[in-house]
Amino acid sequence: MSHRGGALLLLAVLLTACAETYKIRPIQLDESAALTIAADPLLKQVGLIGPRRSCTMAVTLNDVQARVLEVLPGSGSEYCLGFYVSSGALALPLAELRGLIAHGLAHLVLGHARTSAASSGSSRARARGYVQGRPHSLEEEAEADREAARLLTTAVGGPACAGLGQVLERVAAEGDRWSEWTEQHPQTPRRAIAARGLCAGKR
Ligand SMILES: [Zn+2]
Repeated sequence: MSHRGGALLLLAVLLTACAETYKIRPIQLDESAALTIAADPLLKQVGLIGPRRSCTMAVTLNDVQARVLEVLPGSGSEYCLGFYVSSGALALPLAELRGLIAHGLAHLVLGHARTSAASSGSSRARARGYVQGRPHSLEEEAEADREAARLLTTAVGGPACAGLGQVLERVAAEGDRWSEWTEQHPQTPRRAIAARGLCAGKR
């Protein structure tokens, strides 16, 4: 399916192992709506969707309370962008979900992509829908936060920028629930404060 906004394409993934960690199931309508509402303004801002351009997004949904979301490069012709996301992340308030997507999209825009959609590789990688490379460096994290703040402000407006600091505060507060995400996106104690500083005065 495809239209002039973000469309979602479900990646069918068969689970053969890791059933406790990976409970891949089709994305539900309300979850799909939450993801689309949060992502669309950002995708428009970076030119992935527009009046004459549609973007089919491949989504792998892991039905676990852990919070994780990775924005993955497209496959070329089949889909323009991929998401690996948990239902725990989709349950975030809109501003925080959007902040998380903006951070992931910023890595792609900045050419930091160290993950790719899993068409081959280990069963673990296939189960979660992407192959994880090395974790991002602290410099890349800081750079992606700056770009995410810029994206949120230009795509949605100054107040939306606060979602980045809010979600990073939650990462710190919820600890282990974010361990899969923080493996790829290393945290520092002052990161949420730094993100709030990036958004200060943006109204
Ligand atoms: Zn990151």
